[in-house]
Amino acid sequence: MGPLIPFPLPDPLLTLHSVDESEEKITLVVEPSTQSSICPACQTSTTRRHSRYSRAIQDLPMNNKQVELLLLARKWFCDSPSCSTEVFTERYEWILPKKRRTLRAEELLRKLAFSTSCLNAEKLSRHLHLPVSHDTLLTLIRHTPDSHEVSPFHGILKRELVYQTKYKTREVAKKSLFEYIGFFYNSKRIHSTLGYNTPNEFERMYGNSAA
Ligand SMILES: [Zn+2]
Repeated sequence: MGPLIPFPLPDPLLTLHSVDESEEKITLVVEPSTQSSICPACQTSTTRRHSRYSRAIQDLPMNNKQVELLLLARKWFCDSPSCSTEVFTERYEWILPKKRRTLRAEELLRKLAFSTSCLNAEKLSRHLHLPVSHDTLLTLIRHTPDSHEVSPFHGILKRELVYQTKYKTREVAKKSLFEYIGFFYNSKRIHSTLGYNTPNEFERMYGNSAA
């Protein structure tokens, strides 16, 4: 039996091999405990292992520290004669192929990205010990289906601007977003929730009466 930690791993079928703790980070070496895998191409089960490789994966923080899962991921042979795949990498429900963080960590970052600006969210992610760049957060917003929208503002922003534009550099993207927020969203767009006034007009009308 491996070491015990007060922390639920993203998958009960993971075995914890070791724990390494530094000032900032807890590294958990984990390996799937299953003895077989299913070929993603033909859905046939196989028990013939090809190789092992390690993946560094960011997970939810624990005890105010970053958590990195060092996953001993596996490759398998597909022996089905009708399948064109010879060797495949194992798929997991808790992380997408080639991703660097768990779905649950991504979900937290998505909530963060949708609740404030990406620059603020980047700062918050560091405070939460789940550090990411604001480019990563912007990518998360762009890749979020509409049903996931948390904030109507970000939904509008995404639909009207981010989806329709590919930026050459980060500076251009930043400038474009600030311009959109400052000049268009606050002054031109009419909001049904504000009695069909723009936010700036609304503030002019009602902002002073509250003072
Ligand atoms: Zn196959």
